[in-house]
Amino acid sequence: MEKAEKLTAWDVARQIFELSEIGSQEIKSSKLLEDVLEANGFNVQRGYMNIPTSFRAEMVKGKGEFNIAFLAEYDALPGIGHACGHNLIAAANVFAAIEASKKITNGKIIVLGTPDEEGSGKYSGSKILLANKGAFNGIDLVLGAHPGDRWDVGDIALAVQDLEVVFKGVAAHEAASPEKGKSALDGAILTYTAVNMLRQHVKRDKNVVIHGIIKEGGQASNVTPEKASLVYGIRSSDVEYEKELINKFKNIVYGCSIATETTYEIKEIGPLFLPTKINPTLSNFIRDKLLEKGVSCQPLEQSLKEMPSGSTDFANVSQLVPSLELGFKIAEAGTPWHSRASLAAAGSESAKEPLNIVISVLSQTAYDYTVDKELRKRIDEDFKRK
Ligand SMILES: [Zn+2]
Repeated sequence: MEKAEKLTAWDVARQIFELSEIGSQEIKSSKLLEDVLEANGFNVQRGYMNIPTSFRAEMVKGKGEFNIAFLAEYDALPGIGHACGHNLIAAANVFAAIEASKKITNGKIIVLGTPDEEGSGKYSGSKILLANKGAFNGIDLVLGAHPGDRWDVGDIALAVQDLEVVFKGVAAHEAASPEKGKSALDGAILTYTAVNMLRQHVKRDKNVVIHGIIKEGGQASNVTPEKASLVYGIRSSDVEYEKELINKFKNIVYGCSIATETTYEIKEIGPLFLPTKINPTLSNFIRDKLLEKGVSCQPLEQSLKEMPSGSTDFANVSQLVPSLELGFKIAEAGTPWHSRASLAAAGSESAKEPLNIVISVLSQTAYDYTVDKELRKRIDEDFKRK
């Protein structure tokens, strides 16, 4: 492997693409980024906040008055690899910070390594875990970027909570003594059916999405299933309504356990992902920078009119600090994400140019933030608005 200080953004993007480590296990990927940042003069804390594949890199310039953080992700998807392009997120943010550190004369430039955005392991939603421990305290501005099939300056992420329900019953011979059996599977099936009914009776303007599977449903047809489990994701664009939906879901499970004389346990899988808080000043400022470079980026208003689709832990950060996750185009419009096509795009040489544009625009924005008092004021005013 080449020396870390010689690596370009594209080299790093390619190496992480090849490493293809899944969430919470990004050992080599995080080390590579840490080495690159260290080689470029950053002070690096490895295993930040007791998360082995997280890090915090800092460089103070001048009085270090303005604290600007870039968020790097580097987890691949199980089974398929970097089909979400997080290898490019890592390279974009690390090199935007390096570029910013060459321009800024009064500020602290920070890179936070935020593992497991996709929710594959122990540190799923690590931005939320880091936020809860105070990692974003004192930070004035957060910048990030995510590849996709278009350029955009912010869209609405849905709140999401993942839940696992385990029903417990009583085993019995299904022919000899069925009256002694209590079926955990019945509890699960009834829940699945009742949740389907719930979907018709939810608010139409809250972008409700409820997706579930039956994970476990018994071992043999002649034994009453003792254990059955379901996994659900419940989403909405409104966090208050999201909480109501979670309560409705819990009531359903309770009711179904009574009906089937089973017991149950509901476990939250990972933290609650919040919806995005958009900062129009920041979005429009970055869009203007892109237009200056001849990049056609759709206006914020258009993105906000579109139907929200995904969820991200970046959104939780946007509720704490003025933030923007810039969407950059590496694939043809309409390319499905988490697919073979997006995997090919994330590893292809054609991603190099958009990657370099992102690095230039984000580093320039960070610099402008430190010297443009009016910009800072308008970003803060936007943030204070509900
Ligand atoms: Zn992603």
